[in-house]
Amino acid sequence: MAEKILLVEDEKRIREMVAEYLESEGLEVTEAQDGESGIQSWKTGGFDLIILDVMLPKIDGWSVLREIRRHSQIPVIMLTARGEEYDRLFGFELGVDDYIIKPFSPRELVARIKAVLRRTAGARDRTPSSELFEYQDLKINLNARRVTIKGDNIDLTPKEYELLSFFVKNQDHVFTRDQLLDKVWGYEFGGDDRTVDTHVKMLRESLGVYRHLIVTVWGVGYKFELGVIK
Ligand code: CA
Repeated sequence: MAEKILLVEDEKRIREMVAEYLESEGLEVTEAQDGESGIQSWKTGGFDLIILDVMLPKIDGWSVLREIRRHSQIPVIMLTARGEEYDRLFGFELGVDDYIIKPFSPRELVARIKAVLRRTAGARDRTPSSELFEYQDLKINLNARRVTIKGDNIDLTPKEYELLSFFVKNQDHVFTRDQLLDKVWGYEFGGDDRTVDTHVKMLRESLGVYRHLIVTVWGVGYKFELGVIK
């Protein structure tokens, strides 16, 4: 089944070129030319990934993304113009999976799309048996992407959540920051060590009494280990 892409881009020339190329690669494309119609199209559902331009008429890309993120963790790739400052941390917070700077080659975009779809495939195809992770009062519902401690919902940003679910699925394994960047963000993103440290710090804060489950392995990186609650 062809993966469905929603392409929100106001520049007709770019939109048509990208749509044509993606279709030639076997992807199904729905086009929207401003933020408002982008949200409308997204609401019709069924998309696997959104390509979202930052500068859009009516509603800008960031606002579109914020609206979508209130309801959905669908993978998103942002398009940004050269010279336009792309706020990486802001992107992380809003759960941007990747971004690409114009002008780009359609071929590069397709490579990014495939990488993001590959990375997020686990979340979409996970078998029911591995849906729930429980440790004492910490419960992580991997399908619903919901984390609770003593029944209280813990609010995580999409990237914090992905980092946590990656750790949970790879317990006791030490990962370097580079490996985490690769596995959770993808090398294409171009983040650095501080990206990982910042997110580990935020994630630990969110986990409260369970913060020590994420263990710093000095000189190497991080691992997720049970039974180390202090
Ligand atoms: Ca634009």
